[in-house]
Amino acid sequence: MTVRAGEPIGVAVLGSTGTIGDNTLDVIARHPARFRAIALGARRDHAKLLAQCLQFRPEVAALVEPEAALALECGLRAAGLPTRVLVGESALEEIAALPQAPYVMAGIVGAAGLSSSLAAARAGKRLMIANKEPLVMAGPILIEAARAGGATLLPIDSEHNAIFQCWPAGAETGRAPPGVRRILLTASGGPFVDWSAEAIAMATPEQACKHPKWVMGRKISVDSATLMNKGLEVIEACILYGLPIAQVEVVVHRQSLVHSLVEYVDGSMLAQLGSPDMRTPIAHALGWPDRIDPGVQFLDLARAGVLQFELPDTGRFPCLALARQAAVAGGLAPAILNAANEIAVAAFLEGRLNFNGIPAVIDSVMNAVSAGSVKDLDSVLAADGAARSAALRAISEPRAARAR
Ligand code: MG
Repeated sequence: MTVRAGEPIGVAVLGSTGTIGDNTLDVIARHPARFRAIALGARRDHAKLLAQCLQFRPEVAALVEPEAALALECGLRAAGLPTRVLVGESALEEIAALPQAPYVMAGIVGAAGLSSSLAAARAGKRLMIANKEPLVMAGPILIEAARAGGATLLPIDSEHNAIFQCWPAGAETGRAPPGVRRILLTASGGPFVDWSAEAIAMATPEQACKHPKWVMGRKISVDSATLMNKGLEVIEACILYGLPIAQVEVVVHRQSLVHSLVEYVDGSMLAQLGSPDMRTPIAHALGWPDRIDPGVQFLDLARAGVLQFELPDTGRFPCLALARQAAVAGGLAPAILNAANEIAVAAFLEGRLNFNGIPAVIDSVMNAVSAGSVKDLDSVLAADGAARSAALRAISEPRAARAR
């Protein structure tokens, strides 16, 4: 990848119509001399992608769904824009590997982002990872692909970006340097942090999607409400930072101002603080090793007043314990956990499963599907598929209905 001095660096934004995409384009728009959105990609939201194309004039735009791509093409031609439209499942992989875009923001939610993240890693990009699922599913494969392709992995997830900022400079991805005692990931606790177990059992999708601190997509909002998001982040941290699960802990921090901490063997704890705004980690990764202005509100500590920390309650939030269990088991267990969770969350959002049905389904899938080791991408995709089928079966079973 060559970055020519004086010219803006080309950025491909995968998942440009989601919240990560919006925030990334907002930061790019503030630095037109430094960055250019060369390629935008999404699944189906052609109206929003067209609006983004009109503003950013990318060379390439990609949509997975053919009808949506056709609508985008018509809109672009009507507006007289020369943007080339790519279509289909492979379109996102294609824009992830475009030589004109040395930087790739991976913001496609769920397992659907795996192939494009891998394509960017193989092509030696600066891969800014905002979607945790590919790392959870196939972390060792993704890290190996980045190593072989000469890619740089930079985490966007606010906690992992915080860890990166507190981590010894120059450490290799996936290998913990000496002197680190543990990582502490902070969790807001989600919208149900103070709810009783009885109230949580009755929670609706609308309540689950109302996050107290962050504005996010619906899938990750439900994950925050179950604490599965934190569970996936624990696995993500083990992979990115090369630590065993015993050295990655979770602490509930309601103010969401301390984004995570690293503890060293000399007793020092380093933390990264800031307003809860995804543009900070995005600007950090885009500008790294420089610091650039993302347009965020600066943190006023005196106004913030109190910073609280407490232990998470895995009794009311069993998903966190399930994720730790998958991390201990290792191999394909995290991929199975992730697939079961995606299916269970989708069923919850569609009103086919109650809130407590989510951990119930994941637990039953983890018991039903055997987890071997991660041999290659095919082994991951096979485990992912088996877990999805088992989750769909569990949701349609009377036992899951009783949990409803
Ligand atoms: Mg996070």
